[in-house]
Amino acid sequence: MKAIKTIGVLTSGGDAPGMNAAIRAVVRTAAFHKLKCVAIFQGYQGLIDDVTRVMTPRSVNNIINKGGTMLKSARCLEFRTKEGRKKAFETIQKHEIDALVVIGGDGSFTGAMIFQKEFDLPVIGIPGTIDNDIYGTSHTLGYDTALNTVTEAIDKIRDTASSHNRLFFVEVMGRDAGHIALNAGIGSGAEEILIPEENMGLDRLLESLKRSEKSGKSSSIVVIAEGDKTGKNVFEIASYVEKNLPYYEVRVSVLGHMQRGGAPSCFDRVLASRMGVYAIETLLEGKSNLMVGIKDDNMILTQLDKAIKGKSKINKELIRVSDILTI
Ligand code: ADP
Repeated sequence: MKAIKTIGVLTSGGDAPGMNAAIRAVVRTAAFHKLKCVAIFQGYQGLIDDVTRVMTPRSVNNIINKGGTMLKSARCLEFRTKEGRKKAFETIQKHEIDALVVIGGDGSFTGAMIFQKEFDLPVIGIPGTIDNDIYGTSHTLGYDTALNTVTEAIDKIRDTASSHNRLFFVEVMGRDAGHIALNAGIGSGAEEILIPEENMGLDRLLESLKRSEKSGKSSSIVVIAEGDKTGKNVFEIASYVEKNLPYYEVRVSVLGHMQRGGAPSCFDRVLASRMGVYAIETLLEGKSNLMVGIKDDNMILTQLDKAIKGKSKINKELIRVSDILTI
């Protein structure tokens, strides 16, 4: 592998709080090691269209506390084609970029892996997604912030639920993974939590809600992940329950995109800083095709293909804890 003098960095796919802190860490670590850093805007689209800017440590002042990504993100169909990737590589050659840091989710890593194979360009991935659904790290960037955002939102919903004897169904993000629902559900004292990994079934949900009504609870909150296993959406589940439990006044709240926004938590800022430093140091050691991650508070590396194909499992202990505490 030839000596690395110039690093490229981009954010791709869904944005997540902490991406800016990771960009800052990549840019400053590159400068620390006397490397040039070229930022690429709008993900792979910017690589194809050559939307780039040389970054210095001062280019990333005052972004550690900002949500979203200053480099913008995009979904780019053209990068899925060989011709698109050829154009992208022309930008790499034009700016003499020797290695690329991709901050994104598993889609972005798939693109990075294909690009690396086709053009023999070293790449390192930094996992940024609020869903925490990437194998090879206990936490992805943005996940901790999203948990805090969701918990705070449910706390507010609880105020109105308890004032009116209402049963609230709160839908949170998570098409394939229940990490947000499970953790924010426990953190906000939800009555029941429906996730994609476990089929709870509507009858069990009804039984549980009946039990809590009998035990004296006058309001309840059920947290539902977008991709829960019942096969019904949150409105269908709510109307089914309303029909069967007429004493509850049922309401639905879909939290939506607010879960992706906001200032990153301290945890996400520190994680992003560590991942950014580690990504550059890993490239300087001559390694490539890896994702940086964290496990038991240590930085670790995972092959990109494993990070993409592997499944990040929920902690079943949390289901047990939730079941016990909703007595
Ligand atoms: P995320 O990274 O958050 O999972 P996406 O799945 O939308 O988000 O992927 C982001 C981008 O990565 C896509 O818009 C596309 O440009 C690129 N990408 C994803 N899959 C591939 C693929 N199989 N080949 C080439 N590029 C891909």
